[in-house]
Amino acid sequence: MNELLRKTASEQSKAIKNKEVSALELTKAQFERINAIEDKIGAFNSLTEEIALNTAKKVDEKVAKGEELPLLAGVPLALKDNMNLIGSKTTASSKILENFVSPYNATITEKLLNNLVPIVGKANLDEFAMGSSNENSAFKKVHNPWNLNKVPGGSSGGSAASVAACEATLALGSDTGGSIRLPASFCGIVGMKPTYGRVSRYGLIAFASSLDQIGPLTRSVEDAANLLEVISGHDPKDSTSLNLPVEHYSANLNGDLKGKKVGVIKELLSEGLAPDVEKAVQNAIETYKKLGCEIKEISLKNLKYSIGIYYILATAECSSNLARFDGVRYGYRHPDSKNLMEMYTKTRAEGFGPEVKRRIMLGTYALSAGYYDAYYKKAQQMRALVTQEFEQAFKEVDVLISPTCPNTAFDLGAKSSDPLAMYLTDIATISCNLAGLPGMSVPAGFDKDGMPIGLQILAPQLQESRLFNFGYKFEQSNDFYKQIANI
Ligand code: GLN
Repeated sequence: MNELLRKTASEQSKAIKNKEVSALELTKAQFERINAIEDKIGAFNSLTEEIALNTAKKVDEKVAKGEELPLLAGVPLALKDNMNLIGSKTTASSKILENFVSPYNATITEKLLNNLVPIVGKANLDEFAMGSSNENSAFKKVHNPWNLNKVPGGSSGGSAASVAACEATLALGSDTGGSIRLPASFCGIVGMKPTYGRVSRYGLIAFASSLDQIGPLTRSVEDAANLLEVISGHDPKDSTSLNLPVEHYSANLNGDLKGKKVGVIKELLSEGLAPDVEKAVQNAIETYKKLGCEIKEISLKNLKYSIGIYYILATAECSSNLARFDGVRYGYRHPDSKNLMEMYTKTRAEGFGPEVKRRIMLGTYALSAGYYDAYYKKAQQMRALVTQEFEQAFKEVDVLISPTCPNTAFDLGAKSSDPLAMYLTDIATISCNLAGLPGMSVPAGFDKDGMPIGLQILAPQLQESRLFNFGYKFEQSNDFYKQIANI
């Protein structure tokens, strides 16, 4: 493999600018790598080689003319396959969209193309982003590059595995309850969910609209900061996108942390935690102490309700969002039905997988007449309490830390027949989405079997710069992020 493929995006950008490598050479090397190992990983639903090579050529033309390159120009990126890119299929890893061709570009895609980022392919995911292991893909499993018998985490499992296996340097994922941070932690890379509304979701297939955000998966915090800068900003096509200027996030890395306050979430450092994960978090606490931070224990009493709240709100919203897949407007249609109702029923029965059906049923139930007040309204009220609890906590501390997940990556198949066990994987990540906060997972070590561990850092809304700074200081105090899966 070309050694440059193991490097961070910043290093690759430098090499392109300094003409040590052309963007075309780098992109071609990327496809050689993909062709050599993709059979073992399963990170991609489809490849977009022509698009990537054309973009790379444009980068080289600029270099030849001595023009300045936009941020991350020429650095190969994997796009989660629930985001539109003209010239590719957008399947959401669902049979119902198996042959659906992107009719337009997502706003993030436009931004990537404007910055001349070569998009190498569409990354595998749990069907409609519902899952924590990527095993809910209708097409194929994704294997964790650190151990091929283990899951990569989900739902952005293909995105995370592609970066960890050096099949891409950057990836985008979507995070509704942890789908960027969990796979980042299982695959030993950085994963960041921005503040709700920071990144436009126009052209992202909606799962739960009050929770979904798009964000970066990368090899370093600096790369995540740069990628967020490229994709964020106000978009009139997404009414939930915030009308605020984009910050130059990487300019604020490496700020002094002396006297800053780090809150350790008590409920996430108690029972049920794998011993090696606990050690890694204790280690992180020591690191922040050495950096001059004051450590405070913070109790979030409502955190234990977050999974219950999430599985009412997310399923209710998904039952409504997925109503559009009816065989009329998009994707698959059952070929020989006698009447309209039969066509709807058969199309959806054949097109959706078991987890998606389970969620549609749960959500439809929660929203039905007579149950709305008992479930949806109650969950909304509890969500407000979770949000308030975070607001209180951030009056006392600058950031909150916890493990990203109580355990490391589990074996393929270990939880696939037990939905509840799978849902519990997200205990540390979900409340961040409920409160709309920015959150990040940073590599924090390895367990006794060599599987990566992630440290989660949370900051108040719109404090992305603070989040990156805390992540960067931690990352630079160890060399976990430099370790690359040996595959
Ligand atoms: N694992 C969670 C779920 O299955 C979160 C998924 C996500 O963030 N998209 O809903």
